[in-house]
Amino acid sequence: MGADGRGDLASRSVARRLVVIGGDAAGGSAASQAKKRDPGLDVVVFERGRATSYSACGIPYWISGAVEAESDLVTRTPEQHRANGLEVRIRTEVIGIDTSRNVVSWRDLESGAEGEEPYDELVYAAGSVPMRPPVPGIDAQGVYGVQTLDDGAALRAALDSGRVQRVVVVGGGYIGLEIAEACRVRGLDVTVVDMSPTPVGTFDPDIGSFIADAVRGEGIELVLSDACGAVEVGPDGRVRAVVTASGKELPADLVVLGLGVRPNVRLAQEAGIPLGTSGGIAVDARMRTQVPGVWAAGDCVESWHRLSGQRVVVALGTHANKQGRVAGINIGGGYATFPGVIGTAITKVCHTEVARTGLSTREAGEAGYSFVTAVVDSTTRAGYFPGASPIRLKMIAERRTGRLLGAQIVGKEAAAKRIDALAVCIWNEMTVDEILSLDLSYAPPFAPVWDPVLIAARKAFDAVEADVRSL
Ligand SMILES: Cc1cc2nc3c(=O)[nH]c(=O)nc-3n(C[C@H](O)[C@H](O)[C@H](O)COP(=O)(O)OP(=O)(O)OC[C@H]3O[C@@H](n4cnc5c(N)ncnc54)[C@H](O)[C@@H]3O)c2cc1C
Repeated sequence: MGADGRGDLASRSVARRLVVIGGDAAGGSAASQAKKRDPGLDVVVFERGRATSYSACGIPYWISGAVEAESDLVTRTPEQHRANGLEVRIRTEVIGIDTSRNVVSWRDLESGAEGEEPYDELVYAAGSVPMRPPVPGIDAQGVYGVQTLDDGAALRAALDSGRVQRVVVVGGGYIGLEIAEACRVRGLDVTVVDMSPTPVGTFDPDIGSFIADAVRGEGIELVLSDACGAVEVGPDGRVRAVVTASGKELPADLVVLGLGVRPNVRLAQEAGIPLGTSGGIAVDARMRTQVPGVWAAGDCVESWHRLSGQRVVVALGTHANKQGRVAGINIGGGYATFPGVIGTAITKVCHTEVARTGLSTREAGEAGYSFVTAVVDSTTRAGYFPGASPIRLKMIAERRTGRLLGAQIVGKEAAAKRIDALAVCIWNEMTVDEILSLDLSYAPPFAPVWDPVLIAARKAFDAVEADVRSL
């Protein structure tokens, strides 16, 4: 006992405790970074599923067979996290957060046991909740989601059963189309139903119609401007057909839901952690919520859109990983910020690649921009080079200034990754005038001598100039 009476108590250092809700992209990154920065930190990760740090993005390719084993999709297992000093509790769901006492309550989903865990810092990384249309039959046997590894395993098992030939995918966004591809690659008859007049409704209609033609060219049936009105069940209790809102009957042995997601914020809301205008958890650039000691990252938060200035929810793994890293660095004593998003995304359906960055024309209009557009049809390689295939590229440029506001690409092999060059241009607020002179790479196997990016910039520049002359 010391002279001040505190003795051992004063000299004993009590480790700070970080509790993380959700053990995938955002939660896993936050936990790992925080522990790496501050090895003395006690880190407890709660994950209600059985896997941690897995790639949901890879699920369609596991279903198609391009990726062989479920384990290939797992970047870090619970055991690997434990070897790095994290306490990981899988199959354990957090069921409440008390921010006045700094504790979370949890339930073991195997044993039913319940308990509480105190925290000094809390990371909320509970991801998103898939949309389910409230239509008759939606819970029938044979209707599948693709949100988690368990969903993917169930879908794969159903497809492996040999009893499925006709698949209806509800939702023609990125995930719906990736699942359509996976089923098509397996030789199945695939129909995609989507409410928009063109698939992947975040693209402009002129690019969307090119996507629609390309997807149909892959042998996938598209039912557009229509919705899933009901799922019909046969006498055996299994799915028989999807009936659309307009009354079309689409025979189906299996239905996959790919309707997008909304942020999983229920527990946060119940705990009084404020949401933002978009419905995601409000965070600052360091990923702090408005409740001291509580951080949030991933699909459950809203982000700042660098072009529109709006708060937006963008459920993408690329953001979740970065945001989790930022939260972890800050919790571990460092300093990091998440600088916002510009709407870059990419996917492919069989041989058709699609990508976008920045604002679409609808988004640019809503954000108050006045703009011109340019669309070019070109080829992915020099026109004479074997394998050259069509590519369409659209640019949206601000009137007068010529600043690039958005770009969209659709084409075949090696077309879509060109979007990254344009994302860098948008990030750095470049004008189409600056872009058309960029020193981009060229050789016949990779591009025409004027890359489609440069041709589109030239055309967009002409449009900006013509507009200025007409004033
Ligand atoms: C089929 C598919 C394809 C995709 N493709 C792409 C792509 O190509 N590119 C891209 O950038 N993004 C893609 N995404 C999106 C990407 O997977 C997500 O944005 C990313 O996984 C989000 O990470 P997260 O950690 O925020 O949330 P999640 O990955 O959803 O993780 C949240 C975790 O929290 C757990 N959890 C939730 N509530 C609790 C609780 N109360 N207690 C304990 N645990 C809880 C969940 O079980 C889950 O494991 C795809 C998603 C899907 C489904």
